[in-house]
Amino acid sequence: MATSDVIVVKLGGSEGVDLDAFCADAAEVLASGVRMVIVHGGSHQTNVLSEQLGHPPRFLTSPSGHTSRRTDRRTLEIFQMACRGILNQGIVERLQARGVNAVGLSGVDGRMWEGERKESVRAVVDGRTTIVRDDFTGTVERVNTALLELLLNAGYVPVISPPAISTKHQAINVDADRAAAMTAAALGAGQLLLLSNVKGLLRAYPDETSLIRTVGRGDLQGASEFAQGRMKKKVMGAAEALEGGVLRVVIGDARVGRSISLALAGEGTVFE
Ligand code: ADP
Repeated sequence: MATSDVIVVKLGGSEGVDLDAFCADAAEVLASGVRMVIVHGGSHQTNVLSEQLGHPPRFLTSPSGHTSRRTDRRTLEIFQMACRGILNQGIVERLQARGVNAVGLSGVDGRMWEGERKESVRAVVDGRTTIVRDDFTGTVERVNTALLELLLNAGYVPVISPPAISTKHQAINVDADRAAAMTAAALGAGQLLLLSNVKGLLRAYPDETSLIRTVGRGDLQGASEFAQGRMKKKVMGAAEALEGGVLRVVIGDARVGRSISLALAGEGTVFE
């Protein structure tokens, strides 16, 4: 079966995202005959759970200024509880309640997302660059599309969350936006929707009237200059998906009802 009719929808985990509205809309869009893979992260939930479990979140800043979660073994476990446990099952449960036969998987299951674990991470601490060696992080390089197609062709809706699995069989923390982009490209999906707690890419964040409506393939570099912090990963993911053959990427708002339908209709920032 062709996969260009598949859409990959990545749901952000930040505060303000309405899971019930998201799942209700997903059920409607699926009923119209669209095939869908849902991807989600769990950054906010991981922070909350880390505090509750007495292992507060820590972040590393690379020499180039990128921030990433310090993922020691305990943090990795908490990350799994938040992503694969609370959020993934929360989404699957809500979809099931709306008649959608969703299947929850992490990137570890069936080696859905495989990549290299970083052997060391460079971080700036008190102005000095240090090397961290026991971090469980990496980037998705391969997607088990055979497993995804098996599920899609049998009518299931895969709901995938980090972590991924390393080539040495360890769970690794990966960025869900970029993993979603990799998944969309590997599947040959027609569209990738990155839904979050903002209207889209803003020219002057946080001014929501400065929404950028379209970004052409030639404008990607310029667009990434408007993005700060975690938004940079979304713009990077959008660029990677387009390069990988995805026809259209939309960064849209998951705080509103019908977030998937609206993004499909072009609300948000459209990259094509
Ligand atoms: P999620 O966890 O939902 O995937 P993130 O919180 O990781 O989303 O990324 C979205 C966030 O990026 C926004 O809430 C906002 O705080 C931040 N951001 C930084 N720069 C911009 C920008 N130029 N336009 C929109 N959002 C931006």
